[in-house]
Amino acid sequence: MTAGRRIAVTGTVQGVGFRPWVYRLARTLGVAGRVRNDARGVVIDAFAAAAVLDVFVARLGAEAPGRVRDLAWQALDDAAPVGFAIDTSTAAGAVALSIPPDLSTCPACLAEVADPADRHYQYPFTSCTYCGPRFTIAVDLPYDRPATTMAGFPLCPACAREYHDPDDRRFHAQPIACPRCGPQLALEPPGPGDALADAAALLRAGAIVAVKGLGGYHLACDATSAAAVATLRARKRRDAKPFAVMVADVAAARGLAWLTPEEVALLAGPERPITLVTRRSGAGLADAVAPDTPQVGLLLPYTPLHHLLLAAVARPLVMTSGNVTDEPIAQLDDDARTRLAPLADALLLHDRPIATRCDDSVAQVVAGAPMILRRSRGHVPRPIVLARPIPQPVLAVGAQLKNTFCLAHGDVAYLGPHVGDLDNPLAFEFLAEAIERMERLVRVRPELVAHDLHPDYLSTRLALARTGVTHVAVQHHHAHVAAVMAERGLRGPVLGLAWDGAGLGPDGTAWGGELLFGDAAHCTRLATLRPIALAGGDAAVRQVWRIALALLDDAWAGPAPLDGLALFADVPAADVRVLRQLIAADLNAPRVHGVGRLFDGVGALALGRAVARHEGQVAQAWNHAATPEDHGAYPLPIDRAGPVWQLDHRPLVRAVVDDLRAGRPTALVSARFHRALVLGAAALVRAAITTVGAHPVVLGGGCFQNRALAEGVVRELGELEVYLPRAVPPGDGGLALGQVLVAAGRAERTSASCA
Ligand code: ZN
Ligand code: ZN
Ligand code: FE
Repeated sequence: MTAGRRIAVTGTVQGVGFRPWVYRLARTLGVAGRVRNDARGVVIDAFAAAAVLDVFVARLGAEAPGRVRDLAWQALDDAAPVGFAIDTSTAAGAVALSIPPDLSTCPACLAEVADPADRHYQYPFTSCTYCGPRFTIAVDLPYDRPATTMAGFPLCPACAREYHDPDDRRFHAQPIACPRCGPQLALEPPGPGDALADAAALLRAGAIVAVKGLGGYHLACDATSAAAVATLRARKRRDAKPFAVMVADVAAARGLAWLTPEEVALLAGPERPITLVTRRSGAGLADAVAPDTPQVGLLLPYTPLHHLLLAAVARPLVMTSGNVTDEPIAQLDDDARTRLAPLADALLLHDRPIATRCDDSVAQVVAGAPMILRRSRGHVPRPIVLARPIPQPVLAVGAQLKNTFCLAHGDVAYLGPHVGDLDNPLAFEFLAEAIERMERLVRVRPELVAHDLHPDYLSTRLALARTGVTHVAVQHHHAHVAAVMAERGLRGPVLGLAWDGAGLGPDGTAWGGELLFGDAAHCTRLATLRPIALAGGDAAVRQVWRIALALLDDAWAGPAPLDGLALFADVPAADVRVLRQLIAADLNAPRVHGVGRLFDGVGALALGRAVARHEGQVAQAWNHAATPEDHGAYPLPIDRAGPVWQLDHRPLVRAVVDDLRAGRPTALVSARFHRALVLGAAALVRAAITTVGAHPVVLGGGCFQNRALAEGVVRELGELEVYLPRAVPPGDGGLALGQVLVAAGRAERTSASCA
């Protein structure tokens, strides 16, 4: 007897060849029905004997391509159709999802690229329904070849046959191509032979080559050559930030780094992010690849071009985004020629246009699971599904640094690609352009526009320039907390620990060590970090010795003795005097609550480093200085005197100075410092629970990129429900998602979102 079932599958199941796979399985098992995409994933109507359907469902769950998050079915009373069909129509609700993220090369395509008998042999643009470019070639909707940058490459008969055959792996895959009909590589200036082989020879000889990829250009060089890496740093004017390194495969990655099974899974996963892992010392990477850190960002090839290039060079390659520091990644060939020619010795280009810029994503394993630090290529535009629909479409414009935006309607939220720091005029232009494109591609027409409270963020100005919409200002740390709520489907109330460098509070001061209590619509500030004077304002973020001095003088309630502190051996006494006057007179010395600043200041003090070459450099070095062994913790008590409790860093700073004067190793000082923050965070949460009751705990803000801190707090609060950001970055790169939730939650309110 024939039974019917409607099977709903969610997860990463679109644009990965899921429907053709289901079609083939259905035909193998003799199941009738149809499969289609919907707003949440894939829906299958299946008709066969109940026992056959049991097998069908079991194999779906166990063997299907992509990543099945959830599979549920209900009985269906409809009459069984004849045969099995793929419904490729794009119903209104599904339109938005019809453009998947770019997908890394699948094993079947790789095998063809390596097979001399196959027509895709050595072809750098081989792809199929399971893999290849998607988002970065989409020009418009519906997502069909004519609406992609493959429009200029008509299919040859062999490719056309595969495209139209439902039994073929290339059925309905828009970007497919072969050497006869597809894009071609070219080297500028041209070499004596094949473009790829010539580029590889240049790289082996220590040259810097700009390589056009999926969502932009990389600057590549031999990662084992100190001279090549030094040249790249000098030309890029990037003197300290680590470079990502592409390696041929997992075995090569193991040669350079210590990898846990979770890290291997992340590195080799379909999104192919830059994965931060612990470097093996003496493994052959030039030191200048990632100075100042025991970590390195590794990534595996994600296009056939990268696979072929890595094989031809047979060395790990630095693959850093093709830009001068702080400019967005280059997109157009002409633009690339102008901007990259001074940086590169040659350009390896191809003639498939890039429709949308998209940088590499960055991720790391924290507490045994992946945490995304930059959500871009491989993820965008896959939506985050919200626990409940929002009443009106929302655009959230994000923060000033590490900017991303978010468009949301119904129960889906689309985070845009990584835009970067908006201080740069090019980045600002890119943001405006990327928002416009994304609104078109996902068909969201925002009625609410959410922005940060900070009036000077360029994203805020962009938001306020838009007319005919309702503007909603969202407090920065409330958005950090809400981002995790959105991602994890939490309704609240939650206890949200939001720790970062700085974000404007409704009281006009810079917050950043917050314990908030509330939900998406409203929150209350329960506690913060005792403020730190930032003498000279933002200049202190680089001149970190100023933060150290402010911490010391606060801890000593007056001018602290500086003798015996290595940091102040390098700082002229006159500078110290001037700074003390500024702080005492409260002149250009705003008091900030950012935990990130405490890392800067104590790091500067203990490492003896007066200046950070980029924001957070000393804080990161300080983080990496810690040893994992248990060395105890410095005191970091809760001061309950005011209406908002404060973590009081004065006893901690005094204890750090005692240890430094006693000649204790910095690794131990750093470990005790980290432990103090972990215990301080846990103590704050427990103290809050005694007043507001037990609630889920959410950790957000850039400080929770710090693995020791994040894992420590999760472990310490083991008895509670604790949520870390996973699918969106904990830092400002995830802020826009939180802004969406808060704006939707408080559309009708007028008071400040957090007080
Ligand atoms: Zn493929
Ligand atoms: Zn072809
Ligand atoms: Fe922040």
